[in-house]
Amino acid sequence: MSFVQGVHRDQLVMFPESLDEYIRDGNPVRFIDAFVDSLDLRDLQFERAIAKETGRPPYFPGDLLKLYIYGYLNHIRSSRKLEKEANRNVEVMWLLGKLAPDFKTIADFRRDNGEAILRACREFTTVCREMGLFGGQLVAIDGSRFKAVNSRERNFTRPKLKKLMEKTDKKIRAYLQELDAADEEETDIDHPTAEELREKIEKLKTRKLAYQELQHRLEESGESQVSLTDPDARLMWRGVGSLPEVSYNVQISVDAKNKLIVDHEVTNACNDEEQLGPMAIRAKETLGVEKLEVLADKGYYASEQVATCAENGVSPYIPKPEKSSSKREGLYGKEDFRYDPETDCYVCPAGQVLTYRYRSHRDGRDIRYYTTGGCKRCSQKDRCTRNKRGRKLWRRVDEAYLEAMAQRVRGQPEKVKQRKSLVEHPFGTMKHSMKQGDFLTRGIANVRTEMSLTVLVYNLKRVLGLKDTQSLVAALET
Ligand code: SF4
Repeated sequence: MSFVQGVHRDQLVMFPESLDEYIRDGNPVRFIDAFVDSLDLRDLQFERAIAKETGRPPYFPGDLLKLYIYGYLNHIRSSRKLEKEANRNVEVMWLLGKLAPDFKTIADFRRDNGEAILRACREFTTVCREMGLFGGQLVAIDGSRFKAVNSRERNFTRPKLKKLMEKTDKKIRAYLQELDAADEEETDIDHPTAEELREKIEKLKTRKLAYQELQHRLEESGESQVSLTDPDARLMWRGVGSLPEVSYNVQISVDAKNKLIVDHEVTNACNDEEQLGPMAIRAKETLGVEKLEVLADKGYYASEQVATCAENGVSPYIPKPEKSSSKREGLYGKEDFRYDPETDCYVCPAGQVLTYRYRSHRDGRDIRYYTTGGCKRCSQKDRCTRNKRGRKLWRRVDEAYLEAMAQRVRGQPEKVKQRKSLVEHPFGTMKHSMKQGDFLTRGIANVRTEMSLTVLVYNLKRVLGLKDTQSLVAALET
């Protein structure tokens, strides 16, 4: 039996096959093509969307956008690799009409069109919304760290600089001692010469000056750390059991219906405490709904953020983190006291009423304090407080929002449990399946553009899994 035979390389064909014949109807490149063609690139403010009358004709931004979307969909993100693909990959040839821009043109397009690419990503979200792919009732918000182009060694915090300078001083002192000894003794062949020691000392002094310069920079900027390769990136913890890496904090909101990403943001904030309000409000606006429920983890628990959500029609569900020092010491926690909003008083486990006494401002927050005169005679005092004068409770002015949220969390535990499965799926897909857990470019503006492309392609992949290419193309044409 013989093998399946291909066409001989020297065989001439009378009627050349068209590129279109190589691209089957269900090929995702047809959807990329139709989507980019449906965009108004001038409206999205792509550079060179209108060709100049004179000069060398530029590449049409739509062609370069198609190339990037195709590349990100197929794990090809570098401009040099995309240049190669344009010369050998029949799908790219079809998509670009056999245009083969050089890597610099490709890289410049991504660098110069960050905002426009973000707008194109949002246009795709609008397409998804118009196709009814968002539920618009429940979203999960989460953040994940994506590695920046900056090694740990090229990031300096104040404590690290202090340690390095101490270490350098110690080494200098040791070399100086060796130098004194070398001056007095005969030169030993196994030991560095006085000249070599002087060189080492000079090098260490130069290094110390560089550390001092960095420390000075930190003092002037008020920042807590400095990164040398990518100045916008920050050293961040990446989770239990892993070492901190110089990274960016990527925030996403994911709709519960089809796990599509509603919105995303890239920040260099080292924690998620201030992200809930802006992310939730933007998700609500993108979905075009009046009310929205939002799931988030304990890292987002911040009273001002919860209050902002509540004031803007968003109901967050965030479990309360266990921070109470009283509980840790085995004493009654605040949750053991019942607050009565009618009288603005707390009732303690011994039945005493704690009334409002005074108000103060702490860490930028308005705090109200409550006490009772009954503590001195209380039989449960040992279980309640170590303070001789009795127990003092504090309450944030916007604590009612936290209490309402705690009630929601207690009432619907199954909803809270959904968070993990909703939001970990997109991050897992982006980092592992799409291999886009690290950035290739430097600077927050550039990494934002990279993330816009990653999110656009994640959503595109997801949509292609929900509907066939032909019906998607048809939907864009209507
Ligand atoms: S110590 Fe004071 S606040 Fe605590 S249980 Fe006793 S009376 Fe109530």
